[in-house]
Amino acid sequence: ISFNDYKLSQEIIRALNGLGYEKPTEVQSKVIPTALEKKDLTVKSRTGSGKTAAFGIPVCELVEWEENKPQALILTPTRELAVQVNEDITNIGRFKRIKATSLYGKESFAKQTAQLRQKTHVIVGTPGRVMDHIDRGTLDVEQIRYLVIDEADEMLNMGFIEQVEKIIKTLPAERVTLLFSATLPKDVEKLCHSIMRNPVDIEI
Ligand code: AMP
Repeated sequence: ISFNDYKLSQEIIRALNGLGYEKPTEVQSKVIPTALEKKDLTVKSRTGSGKTAAFGIPVCELVEWEENKPQALILTPTRELAVQVNEDITNIGRFKRIKATSLYGKESFAKQTAQLRQKTHVIVGTPGRVMDHIDRGTLDVEQIRYLVIDEADEMLNMGFIEQVEKIIKTLPAERVTLLFSATLPKDVEKLCHSIMRNPVDIEI
């Protein structure tokens, strides 16, 4: 299999070539075609498996450049992961001119708010700061159609699950939800059931 087997635009294929990604990893081969069909997904896979691109590729493909409000929200447990995911999205979306903005604590609100006033397609952030921006009205979630929860088990370990649920309550119900986790403890499974519609389960 190659990336050309999926319904991906030339801009995305060109970016993947530039990154030196020759063929999809196992998790990518399972996630990309299903996510492109806009199905909810629960994915059990580890870091290093290529999971970031597994959601980054369909997210970059599905967002519409013309839309002026954020369309995808990616939640990560840590600032470091938010920065990394933001970078990967920027690289994958390069030729489509996808703009990603990262939101995390310990950085000034003013700076992030200024970034949010610019056109941005994808938001990558940690739950606390994302919720703060929603509360303050500086992050408009009205057009969020794609939600990714990365490292859900870590979110749970760090006590972020309630924040995540609170954020989800503010999002449009009509959306695609992708959840990634290295392990699927009961509380993560419970979360999946409450936020997804007939998710496809993928285990690597
Ligand atoms: P991740 O699991 O998302 O942390 O990715 C692990 C590493 O694999 C990262 O350095 C990615 O740049 C790289 N990677 C992701 N997808 C591919 C691919 N299809 N081919 C080669 N390398 C990849």
